[in-house]
Amino acid sequence: MIFKDPSDLQAAVNAYRAKTCTTRQHIRAALCDMDGTLYDSMSRHAKAWYRMITEQGIACDENEFLMYEGMTGAATIRLLFQRAFGTVPDEARIKELYHLKTLYFSEQPKPDPMPGAQHLVQYFRRMGIRPVLVTGSGQTTLLNRLDADYNNAFAADLRVTAHNVTKGKPDPEPYLKGLEMAQVCASDAIVLENAPLGVESGARAGIFTIAVATGPVPLQALNDAGASIVFSSMPQCDKYFPELLFCLNT
Ligand code: CA
Repeated sequence: MIFKDPSDLQAAVNAYRAKTCTTRQHIRAALCDMDGTLYDSMSRHAKAWYRMITEQGIACDENEFLMYEGMTGAATIRLLFQRAFGTVPDEARIKELYHLKTLYFSEQPKPDPMPGAQHLVQYFRRMGIRPVLVTGSGQTTLLNRLDADYNNAFAADLRVTAHNVTKGKPDPEPYLKGLEMAQVCASDAIVLENAPLGVESGARAGIFTIAVATGPVPLQALNDAGASIVFSSMPQCDKYFPELLFCLNT
């Protein structure tokens, strides 16, 4: 459901409950994507991918990397090589190529936290909701900055990254892993996402999935991927979240 006015909040909760046969909820964990959700970093990732991939002699478009957002780096590399050459590099070469991409990313100016996201994450904590990081990234540049930018909100044992999942989004595995780490069931968590593949992953894990349009991806694409509710910006999400939480918990 695309958010238009506050009455949509209860309607989105009712639709989620009908779909998942849920009656009562007590939200105790917020499973948060990183790139494009906690950080305004997607254009830098797209640039780094474009540079690395074109250097391999593969024709591509910078914007197409926004569509692969959420996939693991290895999966993106396999996809591009399969398309261009009909074959994929071995694991060692994939590692080298991904390393090169992370290097090109780290050479760019540091991305800022997404406007509104720090405030929202602090609100989660005040309400007893544990923030859990669920990212397909293994990009240490950002992972190392989370503590400083988010005031230690994401505990070290509550982080799903490229290093501890095998399938990556849109598979539900990363969000199921996040639930397991936080020791909560699907109905007692929420997902915060910005990309269609990530939204699909959260929805397939059976979690109330909040999509926030923070880039060029249309609201409708996030809705079609299975979002429980779609906000048009992070400040809008931050503004209405307390009311949404009330609907979820009553
Ligand atoms: Ca993302």
